[in-house]
Amino acid sequence: MKTDVEIAREAKLENIEKIAEGLGLSRDSLIEYGKHMAKISKETLDQCQEKEDGKLVLVTAINPTPAGEGKTTTNIGLAMALCQRGKKAITALREPSLGPVFGIKGGACGGGYAQVLPMENINLHFTGDFHAITSAHNLISASIDNHIHQGNALNIDLRKIIWKRVMDMNDRALRQIVVGLGSEKNGFPREDGFDITVASEIMAILCLSHDLMDFKEKVAKITVAYTVDDQPVTVADLKVQGAVAMLMKDALLPNLVQTIENTPAIIHGGPFANIAHGCNSLIATKTALKLADITVTEAGFGADLGAEKFLDIKCPVGGLKPDCVVLVATIRALKYNGGLAKSDLGQENIQALKDGAVNLKRHISNLKKYQLPLVVCINTFPTDTEEELETLENILKEEGLAYARSTCFAQGGQGALDLADRVLEALDKESNFKALLSEDMDLEEKLLCLAREIYGAKDVIYSDQAKKQMEKIRKEGLDHLPVCVAKTQYSFSDDPNKLGAPTGFNLTVRELIAQTGANFIVAKTGDIMTMPGLSKDPAANHMDIDKDGTITGLF
Ligand code: ADP
Ligand code: MG
Repeated sequence: MKTDVEIAREAKLENIEKIAEGLGLSRDSLIEYGKHMAKISKETLDQCQEKEDGKLVLVTAINPTPAGEGKTTTNIGLAMALCQRGKKAITALREPSLGPVFGIKGGACGGGYAQVLPMENINLHFTGDFHAITSAHNLISASIDNHIHQGNALNIDLRKIIWKRVMDMNDRALRQIVVGLGSEKNGFPREDGFDITVASEIMAILCLSHDLMDFKEKVAKITVAYTVDDQPVTVADLKVQGAVAMLMKDALLPNLVQTIENTPAIIHGGPFANIAHGCNSLIATKTALKLADITVTEAGFGADLGAEKFLDIKCPVGGLKPDCVVLVATIRALKYNGGLAKSDLGQENIQALKDGAVNLKRHISNLKKYQLPLVVCINTFPTDTEEELETLENILKEEGLAYARSTCFAQGGQGALDLADRVLEALDKESNFKALLSEDMDLEEKLLCLAREIYGAKDVIYSDQAKKQMEKIRKEGLDHLPVCVAKTQYSFSDDPNKLGAPTGFNLTVRELIAQTGANFIVAKTGDIMTMPGLSKDPAANHMDIDKDGTITGLF
């Protein structure tokens, strides 16, 4: 089969104005970035407000293998299939980060015949949103060190600066560094470090803001450090929220592109699903709901992380009411959850598949708690055998669930028509969406509820550090904020080796960090990497461009 970038190159793209026209948007509604990408202007966003919302479909997945299970691919395939069925459907996705692009996972434009285009642009610099976020974040970092250099009127404790620097690259060497070395003109030496841009609180705020002014207000409230007498220091204290908002004025506008079948796609924002909430921007989702009858969106990693945060953080903050959830399962991830080694996933193994099905079943019973119609999508890979596929279908029949096979990777929208039909049936049903966590639960109650109801844990244990932080959070009156759990994506538990559907374990909360801008408490469990590293044989080693500009190796 052809590679993703070869398939992308053969596609016939429409002018972006034509895609906009299909959504009822004129050329004036757009800020164009070349022929095939555009931002939707602020005026247009304002004008859309009166329109009624369409239906909202969330695509999520079981616990993945390290290569990903095809949420983005399925999302794109489903949106294209819905369009083939005559519906006005749009896909609303996250922007790719360069870390995974050059690492092992690859980009985030889907794959095969279910891609968003132009993938060489979207996967690389796109419309510059990540650059803007990186700059905005680092402006705050520079302001902190400059404030200290200029006399430290705020009395910032150099050992209690929690705002790191960011860069959109997997670079383990920058995880822990010392800044300010050299002469006294270079400021005060102190320990610092880099996170990847998608882990920045600026990214989380971008994705949870209603508009630029809301964004600015939230940025002003970010806690960046503590003073010598332990008082929080915010961006407002440094007086840079205005400059940060200015840097981000275009980055806050959603990006319009197209799928390989020339249907519309909005791609905007992309916070990490482990450390942050893992969903595209609220502005983009809301815009999509106004412009189309059906919006198909995605939340990162498995449903225990991405869907949970979509349903318990993003939906309540944005007043969103999803209408259906699509749970993506693959034979290979089920076998992986059944204990099969990564290198053997291409071999038929019915027993491992049956053993791994407990993972799928746990996700199904979890999602039912949100009272949403559910459809399971079997994203088929060339290595799946008919017997494996039938075994999985029998399991789903026993569960009494709507399901469909999807071959959209190989066939585009055509390959997701069954899935589209099941989703349309689900959309005819009443959705009584209810978040699992409610505002009146405090932090401890929320964490216990998630641990027991979603992860299958026995109890929550707090490290000494987390206990102290909990006390501080209570004292500062922040313990009713939503909670954003930072956890491994490979397991329901905080241990990536506990596959399947583990029970009886304790969830250990190591750290509680109040992100007072994004307005949630990050609960760190296990070893969470906020700056990934590259592997021994990263994707970057297989990429190239020739004298004609032809790219290879990007996927
Ligand atoms: P997710 O969004 O769940 O992380 P992606 O849709 O990005 O997953 O898919 C992960 C990788 O697997 C991508 O490289 C994609 O092209 C590939 N992929 C997805 N579905 C299939 C499939 N059915 N057959 C072969 N490769 C696939
Ligand atoms: Mg994805």
